[in-house]
Amino acid sequence: MLDPKAQEEVRIKALEYFKKAGIVLSKEERDKGLEIFDYNTGDFFEIGTVIVTFINTERYCGRFIVFFPGQCCAEHWHPDVDVNTGKEETFRVIYGQAFAYGEGRPTKDIRAKIPKGREKYYTSRCETILNPGDQYTIKLNEKHWWQAGPEGVVALEVSSPARDKYDLCTDNTLKVEIY
Ligand code: ZN
Repeated sequence: MLDPKAQEEVRIKALEYFKKAGIVLSKEERDKGLEIFDYNTGDFFEIGTVIVTFINTERYCGRFIVFFPGQCCAEHWHPDVDVNTGKEETFRVIYGQAFAYGEGRPTKDIRAKIPKGREKYYTSRCETILNPGDQYTIKLNEKHWWQAGPEGVVALEVSSPARDKYDLCTDNTLKVEIY
């Protein structure tokens, strides 16, 4: 877990990326709206992300997402919760380059660098390379993950409701901590 000083540094750094992407956040979002998603692996800059959720209702969700250079998320999926089906999400790149992975025919030499020793937890290897203006949709219950290229990535995500605490990771020892 990042200590409060490190959390603050991450938030300041993420704001620079929003600026580079030309995304204007409200003062409230800048002050209190940046959520740090940490998987508690001990290296946030390897596996983690920063998210601003500007709407999340019972029916839909809208977010901006920052990945720092080379940073990825854990491979995960969004299961059905009670009567609600899992989350379907579309990720659209605004700034930088992202490597997106979903289920399907595996790409031979993927561009992403899987965190060392964690190869077995990144099973979806069907690659799509996304530049600004490109978007990618994850189907229900599909295992997926992303990694930022060398410039980092800022993306817009639109989806059905986000219920992050129910998300499941391929490495089931990982837990999403949000702060
Ligand atoms: Zn997801």
